[in-house]
Amino acid sequence: MNNKTKLDQGAGSGTRVVWGGEQGGHPYNATQTPIVLSAAYGYQDIDAWYDVALGKAPGFIYSRMSNPTVCVLEDKLCELEAAEAAVAFSSGMAAISGVLHSFLRQGQRVVSTRDSYGGTNKIFEEFLPRMGVEVTLVDTLDTQAIEREVARGCALLYLETPTNPTLKVLDIQRLAAAAKRVGALVVADNTFATPLNQNPLALGVDVVVHSATKFLSGHGDVLGGVVCGAELLMAQVRHYREINGAALDPFSAYLIIRGIKTLALRVRQQQASAQVLAEYLCSEALVESVNYPGLAQHPGHAIACAQMRGFGAIVSFVLKGGMETVVRLLPHLKYAHRAGNLGAVETIYGPARTTSHVENTLEERQALGISEGLVRISVGIEDTDDLLADLRNAFAAVRREQGQGKPVQPQAQCPGVEA
Ligand code: PLP
Repeated sequence: MNNKTKLDQGAGSGTRVVWGGEQGGHPYNATQTPIVLSAAYGYQDIDAWYDVALGKAPGFIYSRMSNPTVCVLEDKLCELEAAEAAVAFSSGMAAISGVLHSFLRQGQRVVSTRDSYGGTNKIFEEFLPRMGVEVTLVDTLDTQAIEREVARGCALLYLETPTNPTLKVLDIQRLAAAAKRVGALVVADNTFATPLNQNPLALGVDVVVHSATKFLSGHGDVLGGVVCGAELLMAQVRHYREINGAALDPFSAYLIIRGIKTLALRVRQQQASAQVLAEYLCSEALVESVNYPGLAQHPGHAIACAQMRGFGAIVSFVLKGGMETVVRLLPHLKYAHRAGNLGAVETIYGPARTTSHVENTLEERQALGISEGLVRISVGIEDTDDLLADLRNAFAAVRREQGQGKPVQPQAQCPGVEA
């Protein structure tokens, strides 16, 4: 496809998300990207077919290799992350494992941090060691310790910033420079920040991954993942996907393309509300601590100010009384899903125990410093005042119950949690 909308160099983020990667020239003069559901693409001319198959001519052969709808999404991500190439996968985890399998070999070593999405952590703790890859997970806030481990030699440095669900912020530029000194590849999960707030490639990272299930699609109705970087690297990732088979389906690609068009509008509203909720939570007596990079007292605030254009729409907080208080609080919220997802237009509350770290045992969560009272809020696009009032009312209800000495029902469950 070579009919792409050309964006002005200085086009703003609201314009880039709408027009970036859009191909135009669709059948029937359709203004929207068609969903091309064909598994295979037919040729009269065997030589022309062979040229496409060998990559000597543009075109499509089979949708596990490439698909016209999926290609538009990949082009859009290239625009948003200023990347040469992108490769879409069937989920964020497929994208992350695709990257790790594309670049790692037996006997190599990976350095990463203790705070990462629980699924990513499982790859590090369970699957990579099985392949004979050594993994060292370092205290996320100890930048010097990460640098020391990298300096010992590694093939790949994996960063997630801000982290899920603890919202710790890593200094991307400094850590990428440490990795370059030992010739290691740097991979960064940019799901929480979104390309609107942070572009890791511009800070020295080689490969960016996204769970497109989250803010990119934005409506909680599709799974997807995208990997971006230089064409030479993406050729390896594309080759892996072709054989591994975790390609994104065209209908999901269409939903993600549609979602991205409102990314700027959504995230601006969501992060403005996130700041208000985080500040309120700091004043709430039942709250032990609040994690949000937009708070001046957050340990990563200065780095976030330097490398991010906004602080994102995820806030987490630790409740006094642990899971008992979580079980009391969550049912009182009116404008909230209680579910294991984030980045959607609706506000979503979830304890780490049943969302990001559901794969981990209690002992593993404790070792990772994930408290049972930790709750993550994915702030939606609802009106800020309504979200604030909802949270205030929920806390007031808990206080009333506690004042009445109402016991917690042992069978009480947070509705809507992941199985
Ligand atoms: N990366 C981060 C930061 C996440 O929060 C998640 C899921 O919660 C993933 C990756 C995995 O994405 P998916 O659920 O699309 O596989």
